[in-house]
Order: sequence, then C-alpha cells, then structure tokens
Amino acid sequence: MADPAFLRTPRLLRERRAVAARVHDWDEVYRPRALLPIVGGQASRCMDCGLPFCHQACPLGNLIPEWNRLVSADDWRDAVERLSATNNFPEFTGRLCPAPCESACVLAINADAVTIKNIELAIADHAWEHGLEQPRRPARTTGRTVAVVGSGPAGLAAAQQLTRAGHSVTVYERADRVGGLLRYGIPDFRLEKHRLDRRIDQLRSEGTEFRTGVTVGSDLPADALRTRCDALVLAVGATSWRELPVPGRESAGVHQAMEYLPLANRVVAGDLPVSPVDARGRHVVVIGGGDTAADCVGTAVRQEALDVRQLDINPRPPTARPNAQPWPVHAKVRHETTSHEEAGELWPPRPDEHDIRAYAAATVRFDTDPAGRVRAVRFAEAAPGSRAPVPGTEQALAADLVLLALGFTGPDHGAVLAGQLGIGLDARGNLARDHRFAAGPDGVFVAGDAGRGQSLVVWAIAEGRAAAAAVDRYLTGRDELPAPICPEDRAITAEDLPPLPT
Ligand SMILES: Cc1cc2nc3c(=O)[nH]c(=O)nc-3n(C[C@H](O)[C@H](O)[C@H](O)COP(=O)(O)OP(=O)(O)OC[C@H]3O[C@@H](n4cnc5c(N)ncnc54)[C@H](O)[C@@H]3O)c2cc1C
Ligand code: SF4
Repeated sequence: MADPAFLRTPRLLRERRAVAARVHDWDEVYRPRALLPIVGGQASRCMDCGLPFCHQACPLGNLIPEWNRLVSADDWRDAVERLSATNNFPEFTGRLCPAPCESACVLAINADAVTIKNIELAIADHAWEHGLEQPRRPARTTGRTVAVVGSGPAGLAAAQQLTRAGHSVTVYERADRVGGLLRYGIPDFRLEKHRLDRRIDQLRSEGTEFRTGVTVGSDLPADALRTRCDALVLAVGATSWRELPVPGRESAGVHQAMEYLPLANRVVAGDLPVSPVDARGRHVVVIGGGDTAADCVGTAVRQEALDVRQLDINPRPPTARPNAQPWPVHAKVRHETTSHEEAGELWPPRPDEHDIRAYAAATVRFDTDPAGRVRAVRFAEAAPGSRAPVPGTEQALAADLVLLALGFTGPDHGAVLAGQLGIGLDARGNLARDHRFAAGPDGVFVAGDAGRGQSLVVWAIAEGRAAAAAVDRYLTGRDELPAPICPEDRAITAEDLPPLPT
C-alpha cells in the first residue's frame, strides 16, 4: 500500500501578498486564487478517521472528512452541497474562524493538522464563482411572521433558516447597513465587503426583508414589535465595550477600538473621504490582545501611522501547544496575525523584543499636554495573578492616538430591551434564555453574542441556526431544522478532559 498522503504531502497554507504591497490597499491580504493549485493535495492529507474530532470541535458540526474526500476527488459540486448543509456562510468562517477544528484534527497529535479552514474557503469560493450559491426560495409559505433584531452573523443565519422554512422574516438593524461586526468591525483586508453584500442580496432574493436605521428599544419599542409578529429573535450582539478607568482616560486622542474601526470601514466604503480618528503620522498605542486589537494594528498600518505598539496585560503565550492544554483543546498559543507581520516589517523589533507587542503590561495612566491631548502611555509590569502594576517597573511610550480593545461586556442597552420585554439578564449582563434559546415571554428568543457573550463568527452562525430551529418548532410544532448547538455548549477546555494517567 502506498504511503498515506499526509506522509508525502506537507501542510501548505494560503499565500499572503507581499507586505510592501498590501499595506497600501485595503484588499484581502491573501493572494487571489492562491488555494486552487494546492487545495486538492491538502484535502487528500485527511485520514478520514473513524472518530473525526474535527467535526466535534466545529460548533457548526461541519462534515469535514466528507468534504475533504470530495475535494480530493475533484467532486466540487457535492463538496459544496455537504458544506452548505451545515454552514450558511462558509465564505466568512473560511476567512475569519480561528479553526478549533484544526486543533482537534487527529493528525495534530503528532504532525501538522489538515488545513481545514482553507479547504472550507476553497469550497465556498468555488460555489460563488461557479453559480452554485443560488437563492433557495421556500417551496411553501407558512403565513407566520418573524422579526429578527440585529443583522450580524447570528441574525443573518437565523433569518436565512427561517425564510427558507417558509416564514415571513424581517430583520431590523440600527446601523445604516446590514452585517453587524462583519460590516463595521472587521476591516476589509480580512473580509472584503462585496462578499457580505452578495450574501445579503441572496437573502433578499429568498424573501428576507431588511429595515435598517431602526433601533429597537428606542425608535421602535421591543414590546410593540413583539405584538406585530408571531416570534421575535434578539440577535443584538454584545458590543458594550470594556473601559480602562485610569488617570487621563478622558484625554483627547484616547478612543475605544469600536469608535475607530467602524470609521475606517466607512472610509473604505466611500462614506467619508478621511476618518475623523485617523492614525496618519501618529504614534499609535493599541491596548488589548485579541482580534479587535490586531484589527486596530492593521488599520493603523494602512492609515500610515508613524509607528504602532501594542500592550497586552496577559503573559506572553507559548509558541507551541503547552502540556497543560493537550490535544484536542484549542490551545492559547501565540499567532503572528497578518497585522503583526505587517507591523513587524515596518518597524523591526529591537533585539529584546519579538514584535510590536509588550506582554504582561498593565496601563497605569495617560500623560497629556496642556491642551488635554494624550502624549504618552505609562505602563508597568503586571503582577502574575492580580495583574496589578509592579512598583518600580514603570515605562512610558510616546502616543498621540491610543486605541482601547479590551473586550466587550454584553449587549448595548440590554437592560432597555430586557425591561420592555420583561426578560432577564444573566450574571454577565447578557440576555438570559433557557436551553431552547427562549427568553421570558412566549415567542421571544435570543441568539448569538447577545446571549452567549462576546464570541466568534462560527458560534454566532451556529446560534442563529439553532435558535431558528427553536423558533420553527415554536411556530409549527415541526422538528425539522438543524440545531447544531445548545446555549450552554462551549469550546472544549483542558478541564473537560479526563486526568492523565500518572
Ligand atoms: C474588530 C472585531 C474583530 C473580530 N474578528 C473576529 C474574527 O476574526 N473571527 C471571529 O470568529 N470573530 C471575530 N470577532 C467576533 C465576531 O465578529 C462576533 O462574535 C460576531 O459578529 C457576533 O455576531 P452577532 O450576530 O451575535 O452580533 P453582531 O455581529 O455584533 O451583530 C449585532 C447587530 O445587532 C445590531 N443591534 C444592536 N442593538 C440593536 C437594536 N436595539 N436594534 C437594532 N439593531 C441592533 C447591531 O448594530 C449589530 O449590527 C470580531 C469582533 C470584532 C469587534
Ligand atoms: S467553521 Fe471554523 S471550526 Fe468549523 S470547519 Fe470551518 S474553520 Fe473549522
């Protein structure tokens, strides 16, 4: 028998465009069509194991070994069919998902995982390029009406599932455009917005209606909306940002990331000639450590900042999976994001630094000039455990634009919606729901970050699909739509694993 493909074929990833070229535009950082020559070989590395842990680790339950086999056999039509059976928006997850499936790939125990996310993306892009992403209009209508509040990935997935099931669905969105954080959070260099627009066009032609510029809770009371429809899905996200209450926080030039990123996206969309919060010619300091912080770095790079530094209060993560986070856990390891690669080339690190990031860095205060503009960030070593600044370790970084990317605490105005509908908030300030996504009064459901707390696109889509199944069951008594997750489901952690034999 010939050696299996994973022994002969090394793991290859999608090629990025050269940093020198890509920092001058907002296009996707990857080389167009870079996957085509390699994807068949990469898919053939899948062992098609009897117990596909990758499939379990994907919140959507994507049928990964099945589409790997179909892609390696060049059967793209069936691969598209298998992928769209579980994922409404694979062109988003194929670009944005941190791929917990790859951490759980059985090959990853002692070799390089299959490039599952890239294969998913190749199938998704093939479907759009070859006319296989056609609108699916319902064969019959039920006469039941559903209002979905919020048009991020959770609201869109719920709306698409319910429209395809025959219900009349209207999505209410407070912003001027549909898409949630896919539209006004994540920058174009990671998700070009024409990809979002064509998906929304598909939803429209299937029958989903959209009303933008309507804030439910103020423009339209939530209880009044509930009386107008047979079921209501709240998918309002969790965009209430965490604050940094240190001296100087009120200085001019200190902004929340989500005051900065949406404006940059609006410039790319052609709404504004230049952002009112622009990094050009400025010393930029980003405070925080997640995707939002990385997006601030990549955006400031493209706006031609003088330099960009980042302070993360967490200790520096390891570069390889630590023993404490064994397979199949999605381990917290240090990634070089595309934004950090760009910043690293523009501002090469000193010998004592790895890149623009300083770890275990607790911000102490912001220094300002007499006009009240920020001039420096003072930070100190964060004590292990307490994260309190260690006395005597204080340093200063020049800064005239500071961006706070410290995470989110729950839905904006969650209390208003909860009050109007008579539903509860959980201990973390998210909208409370039961194990079937139902909240308080009859016919009200909660999906996505609004219920789960700040999370990921893949969880939001899974939430939207599962909440849609619950709504359909409530409206019709049928049990036909797929429900990939329960509200209580979480990613597998080291604590869930049995103890190692001693
Ligand atoms: C900068 C940034 C980068 C990220 N990068 C990644 C990534 O790379 N990969 C990943 O998996 N995840 C990423 N995330 C997280 C991901 O975007 C979210 O988990 C996901 O968008 C949540 O989807 P959602 O539909 O629940 O909510 P959202 O996308 O937040 O959408 C909620 C929508 O509801 C609307 N809304 C709120 N209140 C009302 C109201 N009262 N009336 C009407 N409309 C309302 C909002 O305007 C918004 O459009 C990122 C998040 C940010 C902020
Ligand atoms: S959605 Fe994410 S977890 Fe699921 S298969 Fe795609 S990359 Fe993997």
